[in-house]
Order: sequence, then structure tokens, then C-alpha cells
Amino acid sequence: MCGIIGYIGHQDSVPIVIKGLKRLEYRGYDSAGIATVDSTGVKIVKNEGKVARLEKNVDESTLRGNIGIGHTRWATHGAPSDTNAHPHLDETGKIALVHNGIIENYDSLRKLLEREGVKFETETDTEVLVQLIGRFYHADEMTLAEAVQAALQDVVGTYGIVVISADEPDSLIAARMGSPLVLGIGEEEFFLASDASPIIPHTRNVVYLDDGDLVEINKSNYEVRRIGDNKPVNKVIERIEYNLEEIEKGGFPHYMLKEIHDQVHTITDTMRGRLSLETGTAHLGGIAD
Ligand code: GLU
Repeated sequence: MCGIIGYIGHQDSVPIVIKGLKRLEYRGYDSAGIATVDSTGVKIVKNEGKVARLEKNVDESTLRGNIGIGHTRWATHGAPSDTNAHPHLDETGKIALVHNGIIENYDSLRKLLEREGVKFETETDTEVLVQLIGRFYHADEMTLAEAVQAALQDVVGTYGIVVISADEPDSLIAARMGSPLVLGIGEEEFFLASDASPIIPHTRNVVYLDDGDLVEINKSNYEVRRIGDNKPVNKVIERIEYNLEEIEKGGFPHYMLKEIHDQVHTITDTMRGRLSLETGTAHLGGIAD
């Protein structure tokens, strides 16, 4: 499995994203990365290996900004490498995206985009999605949310994504289909993560996104709509009453019992989006052969 984290608000996003990625490390991964956006554009630091290595690389950089996205990758398409690590950029370098899941029709979309002259930097299925978003955004003069929505109509597969753009340095777009995403609602700040554990230290008010939801967030507001028909969705804000240790123990009296019961969910989550019953194919990083 792999993890996503996003932040928009008044604080520096970098330490929040790095701390969040550390909380998601238990999910397993092979590379990590972070991107921020401000009035000077999108900046990215990413590498193969641990979040600790990313943290060191970030410390040596000038990465900063009130909007940030982070990712831990478990490679399905393309080797674990610095280049293939997320976030990925569109051709113009203005749009950055993190993605958990698999774009099943990436091959035909990639060929289509290449025929239109798009140059790819990585071997990933994910880059196809960010290039497609970029194409809609720049060619059809859509807003970032509109371009994400349009691109997702063409995509077959599973995704949890968070997207930022240098041209809209005040917004964060996220969407899900098959990969979990939780929205944390703070005081004029918002958090996105693959599960609630990185959000709890900041806020206990959360919205669980459902498959087919797209959320557009700016510094004071958020709106959830359906990817399919753009209709607004009313979401219930839930309050997480457990403390972090209780969440980690999942209501069980001790960790060993929790881990025994966790096996079903862990195996399901690990395989989600990677096994296709329809085509009888599997994408499992490291055991491709
Ligand atoms: N399919 C994407 C890749 O290989 C995302 C993998 C993940 O979920 O981390 O880059």
C-alpha cells in the first residue's frame, strides 16, 4: 500500500506533510516525495527510499509553502527510482499530482498524448493522468477542478489523487475511486490523507470521501462534487473521539489482537486496485515476473 497527504492553510506545509508521511510509513512503500506551490511556482523534492532520506533532502532545499502534497509510493508501473517517485508534473511543470492506485488504460492514453507531442519523463501510469489534466487545463482553458474532472472521465482504474497548480496557488483538488482519502477540517486549514492517523494531531473533524467524490479546497472553504455529473454532495462531518493510541489499537485491548483481526483489511487494502478479476491480471511491485 502507499500513502497520500495534502495540506492547505496558514502554516508551512512542509513539516506537516513530512510528519504525515511518517505516520503513513506502516503502509509500506519504496519511494517518497513532496511538492509545494506558492506564487513562485511548484517545487518538488522526491527520492527512492525512506521518508527519512526525503526529510534530509528537504532540509537541504528551500522547499516551503502554505500548500503541500506528499506521497509514499509502492511501484506498480515503472521501477522504484527518483524519477518515477511522485509527485509528477505535467509538461509545463505547472501542475503536480500524487496518486495511489493504478490507471489501467494508461497505455492507450499515453500513446494518444504522445501522438499529440507530449513528452513523458517517467515510466509510470500516473504521469499519464497529470499530462491529461495538463492538456485539458491549458488547451481548453478550464479551471484546475474542471480539468481534473474532465481527465478522470477518460480514466479507467483506481485512484486517490491530490493535485495542485502554479496558476491556482490557493487551491487543492482531490478525488477518489478505490483508494481511500480522508479530509480533515481545521480552523481555516484543511488536511487530506489516506487514513485519519496523520490528521488527528491537527483536527478531529473529518469527512470520509467516497468513491466518485471530487473535493475542491481553498484556504477557507471546501466543496465536494460527484466526478461523474458534477452534482454537489452533502457530506457529514464526523468527529473522531479516539486518541491516537486508541486509533492505532482499533478498539482492541492490545496490539497483537488488533493485528490478528487486521489481516483481512490489510490484505484487501494491499490488493485493492492491483488485481483485476475481469482481465485476470496482477500488478504487484517487486514480484512482477
Ligand atoms: N501506479 C502508480 C505508480 O506506480 C502509483 C502506485 C502507488 O499506489 O503508490 O507510480
